[in-house]
Amino acid sequence: VTHFDTLLQNAGHFPHIFAPRAEESHKGTYGTLAVIGGAEGMSGAVVLAASAAIYSGCGKVWAGFNQKALPFPVIPERPEIMLDTAAGLQQRQDIGAWVLGCGLGLGSTSVTLLRAQLAACRAAPLLLDADALTLLAHHPDLADQAVRQTPLVLTPHPAEAARLLSCTTAAIQADRSAAARQIAQKFHAHTVLKGRHTIVCSPNGSEYINRSGNPGLATAGSGDVLSGIIGSLLAQGVPVGEAVCGGVWLHGAAADVLRDSGIGEIGMLAGELAAAARWLRNRM
Ligand code: AMP
Ligand code: MG
Repeated sequence: VTHFDTLLQNAGHFPHIFAPRAEESHKGTYGTLAVIGGAEGMSGAVVLAASAAIYSGCGKVWAGFNQKALPFPVIPERPEIMLDTAAGLQQRQDIGAWVLGCGLGLGSTSVTLLRAQLAACRAAPLLLDADALTLLAHHPDLADQAVRQTPLVLTPHPAEAARLLSCTTAAIQADRSAAARQIAQKFHAHTVLKGRHTIVCSPNGSEYINRSGNPGLATAGSGDVLSGIIGSLLAQGVPVGEAVCGGVWLHGAAADVLRDSGIGEIGMLAGELAAAARWLRNRM
C-alpha cells in the first residue's frame, strides 16, 4: 500500500466531496463563491483563495478587493476568476457562499465591509478568516451579530484564536480541543483551529482531529488556500460539516502529495496546493 493509497482511503470519509460529477450538469450546478479581502498590498491573499476555489471545483468564483479601484483588470494567471471591488461584490444576490477576511486589512473600510456582510444576514454560508477574525475579536457588536449568522465557519490560527477568547496563544496551544470548543460555543460556529493536527469543532460540540498535512504548510498564503477550498465546497452544496472537515483534510493531503511527489516540504508554495488538491479529488 503506497502512501497515496492511504490518502485515498481517507477520502472515503467525505462522500460528497469525492462524488463524481453528474453528466447532466452545468456551471450553475457547482455553485458561485465570493471571496472578499485584499486591501492594498494584500491582493494576493484573495487571488490565492479564489484560485484554490476554482481548482476545487466551484462553478464560478468572484474575487472582491477592499480597494477603491481594482488592482488589475484581470488576474493574468487565472482569467477564470471574476473581479469586483469588495463593496460592489457585496451587492450581488446570486452568491452561494462567502469567504471574508483574506488580506482584508484592519482599517475602517474593513469594519464597514464586515458589518455590512453580517447585517445582510443571508442564508448562504459565511466563512470568516484572518483579519475578519481579528475585527470580530475587537468589536463586540460584530461578535453579537456574527452569532446570528448561520451557517458560520471560523478558521483561526492559534494567535487569532487567542484574540477571539481574550487569552494567550500559549493557553490556546495548551488545550487545543477546549479552545476550539469554546470558540464554537461562543460564536455558534464551525470552528477550525489551525496548526499541526488542526481541530474542527462544530456548534453542537462534535470534534474532528485532522492528521493530514506537514510543515510545508507553514508558509504565507497557506491559510488563504484553505479558506478558498472550504468556501468552494460550501458553494458546491457540500453539507457544512463535511465541507469543513473534508476541506481541512484535502488541504493537508494536498501538501502530503507535494511532499511525496518530489517537491518536498521546504519552499512549498501555497499556490501549488490547489492543483495537488484537484489531482487528489479526481483520483477517486
Ligand atoms: P495560516 O496561518 O492562516 O496561513 O494557515 C496555515 C495553514 O497551514 C493552516 O491550515 C495550518 O493548519 C497549516 N499548517 C501550518 N503549519 C503546519 C504544520 N507544522 N503542520 C501541519 N500544518 C500546518
Ligand atoms: Mg491566515
